[in-house]
Amino acid sequence: MPKVLEDTRDEADLAAIMTEAEEQDELAKWSPRLNPGDLSDGGMVGGVRVTPINADGHVVRGREARTNPQQGRPSARRAWMWNGTETLLPLAYEPSGKRHDRAMHYLRKKHCLCCNVGGFFGTQCPNCVKSDCLTCRSSSDKAKVIPSFYLNKEKVPFPAKFYGNINCFLVTCPRKEGMGFLSEQEMRIHARTRHRMEYQAFQDFQTASRPDELAELRRKVDELLAAQARPQAAAAEALNRQRKDARNAKAQVARSHKRRAAP
Ligand SMILES: [Zn+2]
Ligand SMILES: [Zn+2]
Ligand SMILES: [Zn+2]
Repeated sequence: MPKVLEDTRDEADLAAIMTEAEEQDELAKWSPRLNPGDLSDGGMVGGVRVTPINADGHVVRGREARTNPQQGRPSARRAWMWNGTETLLPLAYEPSGKRHDRAMHYLRKKHCLCCNVGGFFGTQCPNCVKSDCLTCRSSSDKAKVIPSFYLNKEKVPFPAKFYGNINCFLVTCPRKEGMGFLSEQEMRIHARTRHRMEYQAFQDFQTASRPDELAELRRKVDELLAAQARPQAAAAEALNRQRKDARNAKAQVARSHKRRAAP
């Protein structure tokens, strides 16, 4: 897992309001196509060896870097695609490795809602231009050619339904309350990959508590059977009484016949 930039400032808007000349200017400062990869533990950027550096500029080396990997420099920032898919945008570093481009390279990418092609720059969709698209007539309308990535999930224009009501088993996980999973299966896969240790402990706990659960279940079943048996016993008693009454009535009738038949 690369270290992710802890920055909540919304720069998608910034990318959207920049003029093309400003964008070119901004882009020229960096070497975005030079992918530095994960620099959490240091690495090579444009022929320069960089060492991990934390947010206040303190260089992290050796034991400190090994014992606290969170101190390395970020190599990506969290973002959402136009349809709501969460993603990580790689950061491009300047040759000194001290300043990054805040993922501007990716934030400037556009998506065409007409043909669904994404990842291009500029105001027109190159695919629609090339195919002489009659639907959008290669529109440069900002409602049709939208940014591909968003730093704020709330600003995603066409969020697909990715979340369900099944919460993550871990209470501290953000995947809950409307941001849960669509199925139990999905939750288990997430739990096994994202919280491997915690999930193992959780499962162990469940297995351990199963005898109690069984005893509890057995008690409930017994109760239910007893409750069912009560009206049955009452019914049986009523039936017996009825039979006895019928027998008595018959005997009475027989006796009265006998009496009438007697001279
Ligand atoms: Zn297009
Ligand atoms: Zn088109
Ligand atoms: Zn979770």
